[in-house]
Amino acid sequence: MGMLHSQSQCRIVEWPRSEGSDLRIRATGVGKDLWGFPAQPPTMTIGAMRSFQSLLFSLPLPTAVGRMRHRTIHLFRKGLRLHDNPALLAALQSSEVVYPVYILDRAFMTSSMHIGALRWHFLLQSLEDLRSSLCQLGSCLLVIQGEYDAVVRDHVQKWNITQVTLDAEMEPFYKEMEANIRALGEELGFEVLSLMGHSLYNTQRILELNGGTPPLTYKRFLHILSLLGDPEMPIRNLTAEDFQRCSPPELCLAECYRVPLPTDLKIPPESISPWRGGESEGLQRLEQHLADQGWVASFTKPKTVPNSLLPSTTGLSPYFSMGCLSVRSFFYRLSNIYAQAKHHSLPPVSLQGQLLWREFFYTVASATPNFTKMAGNPICLQIRWYEDAERLHRWKTAQTGFPWIDAIMTQLRQEGWIHHLARHAAACFLTRGDLWISWEEGMKVFEELLLDADYSINAGNWMWLSASAFFHHYTRIFCPVRFGRRTDPEGQYIRKYLPILKNFPSKYIYEPWTASEEEQKQAGCIIGRDYPFPMVDHKEASDHNLQLMKQVREEQYRTAQLTRDDADDPMEMKLKRDHSEENLTKTKAARMTKQT
Ligand code: FAD
Repeated sequence: MGMLHSQSQCRIVEWPRSEGSDLRIRATGVGKDLWGFPAQPPTMTIGAMRSFQSLLFSLPLPTAVGRMRHRTIHLFRKGLRLHDNPALLAALQSSEVVYPVYILDRAFMTSSMHIGALRWHFLLQSLEDLRSSLCQLGSCLLVIQGEYDAVVRDHVQKWNITQVTLDAEMEPFYKEMEANIRALGEELGFEVLSLMGHSLYNTQRILELNGGTPPLTYKRFLHILSLLGDPEMPIRNLTAEDFQRCSPPELCLAECYRVPLPTDLKIPPESISPWRGGESEGLQRLEQHLADQGWVASFTKPKTVPNSLLPSTTGLSPYFSMGCLSVRSFFYRLSNIYAQAKHHSLPPVSLQGQLLWREFFYTVASATPNFTKMAGNPICLQIRWYEDAERLHRWKTAQTGFPWIDAIMTQLRQEGWIHHLARHAAACFLTRGDLWISWEEGMKVFEELLLDADYSINAGNWMWLSASAFFHHYTRIFCPVRFGRRTDPEGQYIRKYLPILKNFPSKYIYEPWTASEEEQKQAGCIIGRDYPFPMVDHKEASDHNLQLMKQVREEQYRTAQLTRDDADDPMEMKLKRDHSEENLTKTKAARMTKQT
């Protein structure tokens, strides 16, 4: 470790992203690290480090980074935004020319992410928005189609690239991509700088504080966070000035590497969702929500309604998932609102609590082998699920015969987003509730159809709902008739997504097969002809599955305990209350009948 002589000769190699990480500064021309802070230095607190980092980011560029040196490709993967984008800012601050590049590697995206048509549209819209924002700041976006390894190799050589910057991601396939780019860097002699921008914390740091393993319950997770303190602050928005300090790519490149249209990629044009991709749209939606400070402060997830016609939660997940919005920015905007409110809700049910669920699954996924699979996954119960392609297909294509489940699956297919409790209902029905089909199958369907499909969150929640991990009140099974009726007794949601049922009176809308033939005729829908009969007897199937699950949990007691949290499922607080109220009313009614 040496001394930092002059800032103007230096550039930042690695920011202190968390308490444990070093700040490394490299002297240009010398090519080795001169100065670093060890973890938790006695004289410098994390707060001081953060201030130092903020100070450096806010300094006029030449002072902060010294001589512009690099010819950089900034590789967008997620992180499709210009706000709170540390890797892009670092690229701009250390380079004489920056090529903002998105590699559209269709084989990679189809095989690693199983990206469906709706998400393709959302992605292309997000890229177009990013391109337009970059253009406004004097740069452009180059969307290069091809196999990413070959694209990087070709363009590094063509453009004499000395540095590749990118967001650090935690999915195995993205980690492998970064490792391959680093190997290429060794071979071709360019540097790679990756910075964390997609999560609130550096998950590595959470693991370290938890003794090298992930905290397996939300409660334990919150405890570790309490030791870490608040997440890092988001960095400032990028400005035209940032881009003016280095050259943009040659004009002709922007023409050559434009954002393709859906038709160029043969994506079905009918896949249109009410969610429009892009940072601009995401920010607009975020501002709309944050303007209602009372709603934000009192947000209590279990009180939100799964079958409202417009989302009763923020509906921001597609934007977080693709990195059009920064979770850190959102977290701190929420903190500001909480600071001004007399009272506000708390995790796990508050809005910040939702972001922490996200972080929880990211942390567990980052250190659990085979997180998205049952086999070889140490926290997941090993269950002999049924293999039944026909039943899986009926669930996927909204043909179960239960209007509540089919309306949910229709909204998912048409719009790419459904409420969290609607996800509960559909996932429970497929797995431990009715069909006893593997959560992996459901996860794959969600991965293809959800706009917000996310490696860690999707798998984590599917394990939860199937009671394969995290969730322990497996005796509570959602009823595909009563669940939706609680919050939408008239069935407006079903009428919207299953118009074939729209003329049924409300008392039949959740179970149209109970209507008489005459009533079905009047509704213009004959069950068994125009809409299917229920594919299972819910009572019979769920009783049977409950016994199976009980047996599995007894046999695999140790695994079941690994992720056991004694706290109740926060999402079920309201349902449980409703349920006990329902029971209470029934008991009261029974008593009164007896008395009379
Ligand atoms: P809000 O309630 O407004 O929450 C704000 C943000 O917090 C969300 O955008 C999301 O980023 C995060 N968040 C909220 N709930 C959760 C949760 N339970 N776990 C982790 N993060 C959460 N969410 C995804 O983003 N991608 C997925 O692939 C995904 N798959 C799911 C699969 C199943 C079976 C279930 C039950 C849930 C899944 N979720 C997934 C979690 C959750 O349903 C969605 O994040 C949420 O409904 C998105 O809506 P929102 O943005 O309005 O959420």
